[in-house]
Amino acid sequence: MSPIRSVDYENLAGLNAPFKAAFESEFSRLLEKGWFILGEQVTAFENEFANFLGAEHFLGLASGLDALEIPLKVMDYPDDSEVIVPSNTYIATINAVLNAGFKPVFVEPDIHTYLIDPAKIEEKINEKTRAIIIVHLYGKPCEMDPILALCKKYRLTLIEDCAQSHGATYNGKQTGTFGIGAFSFYPTKNLGALGDAGGISIADQSLFEKIKAWRNYGSRVKYQNEYVGDNSRLDEIQAGFLRIKLAALNSITAHKRKLAQLYHTELDPNKVILPHQAGHLGEVHHIFPIRHPKRNELKQYLLDKGIRTEIHYPIVPCDQKSIHDIFSKKGWKLQAEDFVLAREIHSTILSLPVSTIHSEDDIRYVAATINSFAS
Ligand SMILES: *Cc1c(COP(=O)(O)O)cnc(C)c1O
Repeated sequence: MSPIRSVDYENLAGLNAPFKAAFESEFSRLLEKGWFILGEQVTAFENEFANFLGAEHFLGLASGLDALEIPLKVMDYPDDSEVIVPSNTYIATINAVLNAGFKPVFVEPDIHTYLIDPAKIEEKINEKTRAIIIVHLYGKPCEMDPILALCKKYRLTLIEDCAQSHGATYNGKQTGTFGIGAFSFYPTKNLGALGDAGGISIADQSLFEKIKAWRNYGSRVKYQNEYVGDNSRLDEIQAGFLRIKLAALNSITAHKRKLAQLYHTELDPNKVILPHQAGHLGEVHHIFPIRHPKRNELKQYLLDKGIRTEIHYPIVPCDQKSIHDIFSKKGWKLQAEDFVLAREIHSTILSLPVSTIHSEDDIRYVAATINSFAS
């Protein structure tokens, strides 16, 4: 029996199809101009995205990982410094701390929001703690008030991983403007380029100046190097494409919100665990995660009905070989109690289709099929 209907999880060609003509003319224009790295398109995108966020400054970088890593590298923290991270996140959040040479200290998520549990942060703070990286995972803003209070009390740097939260707000304020905001523009993100790209929002003028030099070999003046720095430059073509997409970001978000709301009305809450909702959170639904104890069976059942889903993510960072190896090399200890809930989430979570390529009928079909799953 062939499936009644086919619903992709995502389709990058379909996602970018509405922008095809604009991308093509931008590409021709830049090809004729012949200027490819850090130019007027990058500056224009930086200004436009800073305006969109209501941020003081925005700097384009090569990736989201760089946007997390570079602020840690430029801070001159002592070598034995610790950085607090959520145990439920994508691996990049953790790698940024390790690549900067510091120790990640894991904090469990809240089992309802899947985000770092603010009530569990303080017990992990000690005299070596320098920063907290929070992740607005799945496009849901973290509970900022208690986190900001802790950063103030212990004088910690706040880095927000906004790779999944472009345009999300907490009490009306954009994510990425509470601390240092690290953004990815990887093609599948809510604001995605046609290649790798990232960037960082910064309020502090001197930090902005330092990172602006750091991304270009630590150089402010050509061939004069003040810092060792990195090569983390955004190219003109990606910035040009991102400007085109940024103009559509509010409508992308509106579409995803409409689909997410439809899941909430159509899905049977006795069949699956629906994502938590709260009125003060302006979510952007990068991912629509449900949970089910028989997640793998449900995923296969949906696939048999033509519906593709994803798992974000199948393996907890603390269970990755890379993390085990570096922790044992450094003589650090992974504490099993720091990722019990993260493991529980990872083993039950399932991401449903929620892209601009999907129609309301697609979502109704997905929801009805899930409701028909005999658990
Ligand atoms: C995608 C992502 C990153 C990394 O972004 P890249 O541009 O791929 O380096 C970091 N954190 C989270 C939560 C992400 O989803």
